[in-house]
Amino acid sequence: MEIAIIAHDGKKAEMIQFLMNHKALINTNQIQLIATGTTGQKAIQAGFNNVTRYLSGPNGGDAQIAARVAEGKTKLVFFFRDPLAKHPHEPDISMLMRLCDVHDVPLATNPATANLLMKAVFGA
Ligand code: PGA
Repeated sequence: MEIAIIAHDGKKAEMIQFLMNHKALINTNQIQLIATGTTGQKAIQAGFNNVTRYLSGPNGGDAQIAARVAEGKTKLVFFFRDPLAKHPHEPDISMLMRLCDVHDVPLATNPATANLLMKAVFGA
């Protein structure tokens, strides 16, 4: 199953913590992570090896992931947004969330929801 991970700078530590909490499951070959550039780099540094990195968010990474959602390739999106920061790529962020809604793809924008999704989908 392809799962997207994206975290704004103020939320990257929470994303890595979330991934670590589910490391045993995520590192199995039933899950393939895709990520925006810096988020993916941090996941790889944290010991996750099944990560495909796209461009950094401000350079189009959110848009690339949105395209995979639209194509039906990405089945779950963990997108930890920082609601207290401004983002130059706000249109891409809105597009990604819109396409999750268009294609009915589960989208978690904070760790509490992400943990509930993991429990619902994987029992983890
Ligand atoms: P990043 O992009 O993982 O390359 O920092 C995330 C974003 O800002 O959308």
